[in-house]
Amino acid sequence: MAVQQQINKFIQGIGASPGIIIGKAYLLERFKVRLPQKQINPGQVEEEVQRFFNAIQESRNQLTEIKEKILDTEVRKHSFILDVHLMILNDEMLLQDTVDTIRKKKVNAEWALDLTLEKLDAAFQAIEDEYLRERRSDLHYVAARIFRNLLGKKHDDITKIKGKVIIVAHDLSPADTLQMNLKYVAGFITDIGGKVSHTAILSRSLSIPAVVGLEVATSLINGGDPLIIDGETGEVVINPTEEVSQSFLERKRRTKSFEREILKYASLPAETRDGVRIRLQANIEMVEEISSAKMHGAEGIGLYRTEILYLNRKDLPTEEEHLQIYRRLVETIYPATATIRTLDIGGDKFLPDYSKNNEMNPALGLRAIRFSMKETDIFKTQLRGILRASAHGKLRILFPMISGMEEIRQAKAILEEVKKGLMKAKIPFDQEIEIGAMIEIPSASVTADLLAREVNFFSIGTNDLIQYTLAVDRINEHVSYLYEPLHPAILRIIRGVVQYAHQAGIPVAICGEMAAEPAYALILLGLGLDEFSMNPVSIPRVKKVLRMSRFEETRSLVEQLFQFSTASEIECFVRSWMAKRFPEDFIQYYAGEAKA
Ligand code: PEP
Ligand code: MG
Repeated sequence: MAVQQQINKFIQGIGASPGIIIGKAYLLERFKVRLPQKQINPGQVEEEVQRFFNAIQESRNQLTEIKEKILDTEVRKHSFILDVHLMILNDEMLLQDTVDTIRKKKVNAEWALDLTLEKLDAAFQAIEDEYLRERRSDLHYVAARIFRNLLGKKHDDITKIKGKVIIVAHDLSPADTLQMNLKYVAGFITDIGGKVSHTAILSRSLSIPAVVGLEVATSLINGGDPLIIDGETGEVVINPTEEVSQSFLERKRRTKSFEREILKYASLPAETRDGVRIRLQANIEMVEEISSAKMHGAEGIGLYRTEILYLNRKDLPTEEEHLQIYRRLVETIYPATATIRTLDIGGDKFLPDYSKNNEMNPALGLRAIRFSMKETDIFKTQLRGILRASAHGKLRILFPMISGMEEIRQAKAILEEVKKGLMKAKIPFDQEIEIGAMIEIPSASVTADLLAREVNFFSIGTNDLIQYTLAVDRINEHVSYLYEPLHPAILRIIRGVVQYAHQAGIPVAICGEMAAEPAYALILLGLGLDEFSMNPVSIPRVKKVLRMSRFEETRSLVEQLFQFSTASEIECFVRSWMAKRFPEDFIQYYAGEAKA
């Protein structure tokens, strides 16, 4: 229950989609249903099973109807999420396990479904990757719908929202967001969720400000309460005073003018003052993100992560599914190129069936290319899908976590086998398809001269390269102070990889987060990187700083960095160099200073 009005109540969440909005709350409490737990008589069992199936069928009908009613084309692009939900409704494990529980334990359908969810949840909890873990929410959205149908509860008619409102919900299912008239939605805030939850992804691509993970929003906010939300900083103010509203409006004016100014750079070439042209591309996980990538000036997709395809399901994606998704990807980004990375998953980051061998050290375990090499059928199916899509646009294949020559040769041998199969079956694909190796393991960087003979390009994954070189777990907050992109070891490694690659005549891309920070981007340019790939939103500011610089000055900056022996000396030097070189934009340009 929402409590009485409090003035200027600040709550902090996670900024999920940037933008400052002042508006009235529209409260949705749809996820809070109390579940009755009842023991039933043996004679009632089949009736209960039937009641469960009726609720499933009703849920299917509702989702199909929602899908059919979407008129807005931008919103329609996201309707595949409803297909995922329809697939979950057909999931054998979900259906069979619930029915078995009703029959064996003689419990009502709500209780049985709840027990099945607990089991599925445990499997999802073990997933380390935030993006993949978040997909578990789809299961809950679907379950909430089934529960409501079992209980005969009405679904809020959110199609009828009128006047600009800020939607406040415990969580929002994609079905909720897709059926809203988004013209009337000024913002979203939710109790749960992270940066990569559906609400976050959808809001970003629709440019609607959103704050997620607020925990207490639905218990503190009443419907109709005036609210301020800042989708960048994650701040929410309930019942703000005039003074607080004015200060946010001032912040909004400043941000808007910076954004307007920075977006001007999106469509300009990424070229330094002395004429060095760099390809800036986007890292994405869903085809739906391409419009944002294009809007921010991406010249292709430098990293398409394919892990999401394997989630929310008990079975594996078929060759046809791979083909359809990659085909949409290459056709939408055409004439630019898409770089598709083969499955980068393993250790504790996989479907329950494949995570039997509990690994002590999953980051060093059976993951990425190692997993693909062991489960060759899964690998070949993906490769066939990728190759077939290559007939419809421009694409390159990227192999993750390559540690040395043997691995890359094995991966290539499997690729050749798949190509032969396609040729035999007279199925078209790009015979000249380029392949690349991710350089993210120290052994690969040290042997990059050898690896360069085997591939058409390298892509440096600094997220993992830093983790493995410095022995610092990338997701462990206790050692995060040691996670230093400008550590002399990292700079030396990158310099070496670029030298080896250029001697062999192949280009080097970077697709780790490091590329998205303007100061680091300049250093990477000075180190000789040829292509940069980053989250779409960061592209314009990186473009701007590159366009304001000369390649020669970045080279001499890098030379000076090699005179220092510690990461903090280097950081300090770069900071003062940036402050002198870009006095006006320094705050936006220097890593970690963006929100100062
Ligand atoms: C990296 O390691 O830098 C990278 C881009 O891959 P991921 O973050 O997906 O591991
Ligand atoms: Mg990686």
